[in-house]
Amino acid sequence: MLASWLGLRFLEAQLKKYNVGAMDELPGKDVAFDFYARFEPKEILGRGVSSTVRRCIEKATGNEYAAKIIDVSADMEDSTGCTLRQATWREISVLRMMSGHPYIIELYDVFESSTYIFLVFELCKNGELFDYLTKVVALSEKRTRQIMRQLFEAVDYVHSKEVVHRDLKPENILLDDNFNIKVSDFGFAKPLAPNEVLFELCGTPGYLAPELLRAALCEGSRGYARAVDMWACGVVMYTLLAGFPPFWHRRQYQMLRSIMEGKYAFRSPEWDSITEAPKDLIRKLLTMEPENRVNAAQALKHEFFSGMPRTLTSSARRRFKMLSIVVRASIRVRKLRFTPESLHLDLIRSNPYLIKSLRKAIDGCAFRVYQHWVKRGDLQNRAALFANS
Ligand code: ADP
Ligand code: MG
Repeated sequence: MLASWLGLRFLEAQLKKYNVGAMDELPGKDVAFDFYARFEPKEILGRGVSSTVRRCIEKATGNEYAAKIIDVSADMEDSTGCTLRQATWREISVLRMMSGHPYIIELYDVFESSTYIFLVFELCKNGELFDYLTKVVALSEKRTRQIMRQLFEAVDYVHSKEVVHRDLKPENILLDDNFNIKVSDFGFAKPLAPNEVLFELCGTPGYLAPELLRAALCEGSRGYARAVDMWACGVVMYTLLAGFPPFWHRRQYQMLRSIMEGKYAFRSPEWDSITEAPKDLIRKLLTMEPENRVNAAQALKHEFFSGMPRTLTSSARRRFKMLSIVVRASIRVRKLRFTPESLHLDLIRSNPYLIKSLRKAIDGCAFRVYQHWVKRGDLQNRAALFANS
């Protein structure tokens, strides 16, 4: 089952990559009269297996939107016996439950015909977090803090509505005009009854929680629920800071094995300059047992978001000491701007990758040449991100 499902996901990724099977042609006017009466479709923004997302303009107002055009003509059923039309209506009902949250994509309108369903969303002009990360290689702790705070707020809201998303990843986190995030793609989202657990295998391999894999593979497993989204948040946060995912291997079953064993590391040199607070939060998110994993509300209270470790603010003396360290450090940092650290020619020759500024340049050049990331060894190969998309 795992092999066939993974095979399907792989095929899906290939189809997306090579743009095969996606509907690049627009549906005829006869099947979508209402939609064309109100909107003018423009260029393609993204593709799924049976959907294409296009920018479109509302004729009456000139406002821009993104229309997800889903071909529901095939009678295919998923593993739960649900047709694509039914699955799309489930996605729509979840999206309507989420309406009004600043960090969740807003669904404006829906059009249905005998062969297509059109979902009209607010437009995210800055595209996927995935592409943004590809451009910048890795994010600073400050930028990661902004994005993860918004992501946890969105996830907290989704969970408060008794819904599990099940496909959180940088491709499904979009960026608006101000680079604020919008969680999108509720195609795998599922409302949960009180104490309900799920056993269905769905999501994207690199982001799957160990209890979800156990639920699909092991007899007598206890199933999974909302906590799988927190695991995925841990994978996203790790990837933002390091520029490569925590679990990856060119053989997919090896990657799934490392997830099930919880085997990941804060590798050198990428993690050397990253402080303890984000690492601690990642450990709390990538916790094997879902009952011991932090939830979104707890994650928001983590010291990574409060800026300063709580223990240091407990006494005035410690506060003073901390303040003087900060002042001294900021003077040193300011001086550093004018006196950059000297680089040794031997080190540049023998291992340029060890030097942070050169590392970024090497990564950037590699991407431009190969169209994917090439790094030392298999474990840091950023092509992994593309393989799982
Ligand atoms: P799928 O279920 O096929 O993955 P998504 O809803 O994730 O479909 O949309 C596919 C892609 O289309 C996204 O990854 C993104 O690149 C683009 N996209 C989707 N919605 C929007 C939007 N509102 N604004 C801009 N781009 C979007
Ligand atoms: Mg998607």
